[in-house]
Amino acid sequence: RVSRDVQPHDSVVNIGNVPVGGQDFVVMAGPCSVESEPQLLSVAERVKTHGARVLRGGAFKPRTSPYDFQGMGIEGLKLLKKASELTGMPTVSEVMEISQVDAVCEYIDCLQIGARNMQNYGLLKAVGETGKPVLLKRGLSATIEECLLAAEYIVDAGNPNVILCERGIRTYETATRNTLDLNAVAFMKQRSHLPVLVDPSHGTGVRELVTPLSRAAAAVGADGIIVESHLNPSEALSDGHQALTGDMFAQLMQELTPFVQAA
Ligand code: PEP
Ligand code: MN
Repeated sequence: RVSRDVQPHDSVVNIGNVPVGGQDFVVMAGPCSVESEPQLLSVAERVKTHGARVLRGGAFKPRTSPYDFQGMGIEGLKLLKKASELTGMPTVSEVMEISQVDAVCEYIDCLQIGARNMQNYGLLKAVGETGKPVLLKRGLSATIEECLLAAEYIVDAGNPNVILCERGIRTYETATRNTLDLNAVAFMKQRSHLPVLVDPSHGTGVRELVTPLSRAAAAVGADGIIVESHLNPSEALSDGHQALTGDMFAQLMQELTPFVQAA
């Protein structure tokens, strides 16, 4: 059960050697999509240098248009594994379908369930049966209760290693891509013992807003953030407008120092 009523203390989920929940404020970073070996390795080295603990990168991409880049698939997973070995950072990557679960488990340390699949109950059960850490992103229009019940599916399948992620919800607002619901972070931390992450990249869709909302995430009590970074955002094959440049990522980590060090 994910409720604090049944477990008062915070759960800690270990992604490789990185504990998420409890003490540390963990920064996960990397490109939206794995695009090539040089692209991934260069950004991985860069974010690692500035203090990222977990490497993110999509190999199977849930794109709104079927005509947009769909990800490198298994080749992308292999590149993530290589980047992990070179940098020492464990990895998180999205699994979109039950048929991809085994491959993602083979190469990746934490399985991401994307917002569009938060209520794909068959997929939730399948990742629940793996026992691997799962990063569960809140659906685009899901209530907090629905998100917690989605987590319950994974836990009920035998896997307690669930990390919740607020990534913004759809509202009437159009100035930003989504509306980052910081209420949900505070609420989920009170209601559930699971670690809660914030994704300020998808939450805002605007690179200039990622750093201020990252500070807000830390202030509201999130256990960490997952952010998109690209060393050449104008060339990115997905989500370039919300990717932090290397310099912006360095600045972000600088501003998070009080939270990361207090941990
Ligand atoms: C992503 O992390 O690149 C992603 C597609 O996220 P979401 O499922 O939150 O849209
Ligand atoms: Mn993205």
